[in-house]
Amino acid sequence: THFGFKSVPESMKETLVGQVFSNVASKYDVMNDAMSLGIHRLWKDHFIRAMAPGPGTKLLDVAGGTGDIAMRFLNYCKEIHGDNSAQVTLLDINPHMLNVGKKRFSMTPYEKTSQVTFEVGNAEDLSSIPSNSYDAYTISFGIRNCTRIDRVLDEAYRVLRPGGRFMCLEFGNVQNPAIAPLYKMYSFQIIPVIGQLVAADRDSYQYLVESIQQFPSQDRFAEMVKNAGFTVVGDGWENLTFGIAAIHSGFKL
Ligand code: SAM
Repeated sequence: THFGFKSVPESMKETLVGQVFSNVASKYDVMNDAMSLGIHRLWKDHFIRAMAPGPGTKLLDVAGGTGDIAMRFLNYCKEIHGDNSAQVTLLDINPHMLNVGKKRFSMTPYEKTSQVTFEVGNAEDLSSIPSNSYDAYTISFGIRNCTRIDRVLDEAYRVLRPGGRFMCLEFGNVQNPAIAPLYKMYSFQIIPVIGQLVAADRDSYQYLVESIQQFPSQDRFAEMVKNAGFTVVGDGWENLTFGIAAIHSGFKL
């Protein structure tokens, strides 16, 4: 059966998204590589370089999933600054995804440090986290899955300290007329088939494609970031790979 996400009421979205990520948790990393031909790794590397965290940065990685951003963040701080004092809290609504992340960190030197902590939580309600308590907030391929984007942004603003930075990596809209139809074909024809072949789960990847279509375009999302109170530089976003993905960023000043 097809989830038919376009027609689900808002109140059900969270439940359905929960099912999707519980279904895919163990296959999540290999699926990302299969669907993006490995390109998501380059986007995430670029995302961390664009963030350029300084030594001792305290990061909240929301919808952190299996830890791609958290891991790159700590590696960057170590490799660039020789810094072992940076800290990341990996927060996700889905304990299955977090468990995959925990397992992955358990095989690294970070395990026995206090540099990484895990927390189950909802991006739309971070009430367990004090205001003004983080230097940086990241959300990578996560905000699209949330029901109320405005609440996510308000909470991001609240938990950041003044001067703190919000950064979001998310799928975008492809404007280039030569690329757009190809990308559309790949999304609708190929991705669900890869989902079926690699994860035996066509529906979850059908959901993925639909959720990408429905997410606001880069300029609209930048408006939402500004409406939450953030100060942006220039347009407020950077396109990656023809706008298939984009990085939005804003400062709490
Ligand atoms: N950030 C990781 C990455 O870039 O690979 C994981 C992204 S994964 C596509 C989306 C994640 O968002 C899932 O782990 C899912 O459980 C989480 N998620 C969905 N809705 C959420 C919410 N309301 N609050 C927190 N996490 C949420």
